[in-house]
Amino acid sequence: MIEPVAPSDETIKVVCRVRPLNSSEEKAGSKFVLKFPSDETISCGGLGSESRGPAKVFAFDRVLKPNVSQEYVYTVAAKPIVADVLSGYNGTIFAYGQTSSGKTHTMEGVMGNDDLQGIIPRIVSYFEIYMDKIRDLLDVTKTNLSVHEDKNKVTFVKGATERFVSSPEEVMETIDEGNRSHSVFLINVKQENTATQKKLSGKLYLVDLAGSEKVSKTGAEGAVLDEAKNINKSLSALGNVISALAEGNKSHVPYRDSKLTRILQESLGGNARTTMIICCSPASYNDSETKSTLLFGQRAK
Ligand code: ADP
Ligand code: MG
Repeated sequence: MIEPVAPSDETIKVVCRVRPLNSSEEKAGSKFVLKFPSDETISCGGLGSESRGPAKVFAFDRVLKPNVSQEYVYTVAAKPIVADVLSGYNGTIFAYGQTSSGKTHTMEGVMGNDDLQGIIPRIVSYFEIYMDKIRDLLDVTKTNLSVHEDKNKVTFVKGATERFVSSPEEVMETIDEGNRSHSVFLINVKQENTATQKKLSGKLYLVDLAGSEKVSKTGAEGAVLDEAKNINKSLSALGNVISALAEGNKSHVPYRDSKLTRILQESLGGNARTTMIICCSPASYNDSETKSTLLFGQRAK
């Protein structure tokens, strides 16, 4: 029987994941400056960090320490949403954080490696064949796709290449990596009960966001600077949408402020389930970026 069931939890969940200090950071004398007072809290700043002032404690639904497995991250951050999408709800999972904080490791991980694969390959093998997929950048000749609304006010990307896939391998073949761009991956699940002919559909957006670092830090100029400003604009639009939703402000959710939020509109808010994974570097030299990342996550709570 295919029957939608009510989402099990609150609609917006924020999970904070901290990656380990890497060897070049260790060599450069950078210190591990984050602390974990409990499973739901993280403390940033204070002694040992490069920013002034006392340590600040942030609370989330879960805080994941550097040693947690990819499987555990999937269980905490993705599994509940996957269950809801299979019951006919829409959902979104984002990874947010500065470049090199672990977003792609979280969403994609090491492909083909059972232990190190990330959320997308784990979901894909779970869904197996009941899906077709849309991805903005499947056809590089289409550089300016626009967002439209159908007669039911559901937004969609006009002219985006759609590819029907029938195996996890075919899905993985169509994914590529982008560092200074948002990588939006949509799984469209359609189920039909052949006995009752009841149909059920749910959309799941999996988003590896562009790096959130401040433009000034990247030293960008010209076209790269314009692109960076655009990214910052769309990330702040996303932050505004999420915080309006978290405040329960249903009449003034500013979806129209960026293409990213327009695309995700039907999978954010309303009946949809959202999990934001806030990715953090533990290194002292990233302290101020980490603090802005944590503040971004806090806006959703
Ligand atoms: P981002 O996508 O945010 O720019 P990446 O996911 O590419 O960052 O991570 C940067 C580097 O750190 C990569 O080499 C990645 O393999 C490594 N890394 C990130 N998160 C972890 C983690 N939790 N455990 C081990 N290595 C990690
Ligand atoms: Mg990346």
